[in-house]
Amino acid sequence: MPAFTPDIEKIQSVLRELYPDAVCSLEYAGDPWRLLIAARLSAQCTDERVNIVCVPLFEAFPDVRAMAEADPEAVEEIVRPCGLYHTKAASCIAMSQIILRDFDGKVPDTMEDLLSLPGVGRKIANLLLGDCFGKPGIVADTHCIRLNGRFGFYPETLKDPLRVEKILSEIVPREDQAAYCHRMVLFGRDTCTARAPKCGDCPLKPYCLRGNRS
Ligand code: SF4
Repeated sequence: MPAFTPDIEKIQSVLRELYPDAVCSLEYAGDPWRLLIAARLSAQCTDERVNIVCVPLFEAFPDVRAMAEADPEAVEEIVRPCGLYHTKAASCIAMSQIILRDFDGKVPDTMEDLLSLPGVGRKIANLLLGDCFGKPGIVADTHCIRLNGRFGFYPETLKDPLRVEKILSEIVPREDQAAYCHRMVLFGRDTCTARAPKCGDCPLKPYCLRGNRS
């Protein structure tokens, strides 16, 4: 039996058809600072809950300056439903202070500068780069790591986000990386779930290593 090689073009074409308008499920009204805050709040929390919490949060603190000058307890009170509220509130305030102080009030658009913000790791940085600044960025979250391992781009046992990011950034065309990652999230929730992937009626089965084995 010949070795199976996953085909990124075929995978992308199926996913594009399934999810033509794949965008970030966090609501941020096109404002990079809002996406930064929402993404920080989304750690160990659902995007749905973050979107709900962000409504009163952005009413109370509508911009980077308001958040930079916020009373930590007032922010904590609002973000409490997202969990880890003490740390998350502290990061939201501190990152806003640094954006004001070091970046003239604008969210920076390079990986290095984004990583200088408290609470921002590569996952959030890549999300910002792709969605707000039109730059390539692989968001190696749990769906992305799981699905691309199942497709056969690397061993399914590989769970290291940085290695996954590096591998996929060489495989997925630069201009498609942001949308590809959003489609991974949607497909990972709908079909290729962690515990019970629906391989039987999966449109990606012909292009997936695990699907070819099942
Ligand atoms: S065939 Fe199964 S493992 Fe492969 S993408 Fe579809 S649901 Fe996921």
